[in-house]
Amino acid sequence: MKKILEVEKLTKYYGNVLGIENLSFSLSKGEVFGLIGPNGAGKSTTIRSIMNLINKTEGTVKFEGKEFDKDDIFIKEMIGYLPSEIHLYEELSVKEMLDFHESFYKKNIHKRRCELVKRLKLDEDKKIEELSFGNLKKLGIVLAFMHSPKLLILDEATSGLDPIMQQTFYELLKEEKEKGTTILYSTHIL
Ligand code: ADP
Repeated sequence: MKKILEVEKLTKYYGNVLGIENLSFSLSKGEVFGLIGPNGAGKSTTIRSIMNLINKTEGTVKFEGKEFDKDDIFIKEMIGYLPSEIHLYEELSVKEMLDFHESFYKKNIHKRRCELVKRLKLDEDKKIEELSFGNLKKLGIVLAFMHSPKLLILDEATSGLDPIMQQTFYELLKEEKEKGTTILYSTHIL
């Protein structure tokens, strides 16, 4: 089966503090992989290393056999990433943020965006700085899913969502799985 993500011997030290050590795993197409552990286990360190947002101490990460290159738009396009802490342009409205994100894609992703906004009951007129933690998380989910990526990397996706929204989110995940999307999903809910 085609490998979408390969993580090999990944180690990250923050100075003297160990983040993760010698971690290897791989995800085949369509696989849903849970990264489960208590706070401090190294889930975010793993995901930030995979996303190349922090420098790895050792190890390699490959997407469809290729190492991350910041100029490789094919790798960027294949990933939908939801960070555990979402930081966006505070002064923009939700609509402006979504328009901005949409403008990066040549393919038409507007219809999918509208579907997601509706299902997650997101108010596009609100300013990002006005959003509650849960509503910001919903916006993060739309941004991660709207370009229909091959690989979803979701860090603590449900934290801050009310039970009904959690249910909607799990339905969305199930639909993605049925479509054959590969999913890396981290949670501290043991
Ligand atoms: P999780 O996401 O599972 O809660 P983290 O990846 O955040 O775990 O943390 C793994 C370990 O790395 C912890 O011991 C944590 O204290 C340490 N760590 C994480 N981020 C930093 C940082 N920026 N500086 C120093 N240590 C860090």
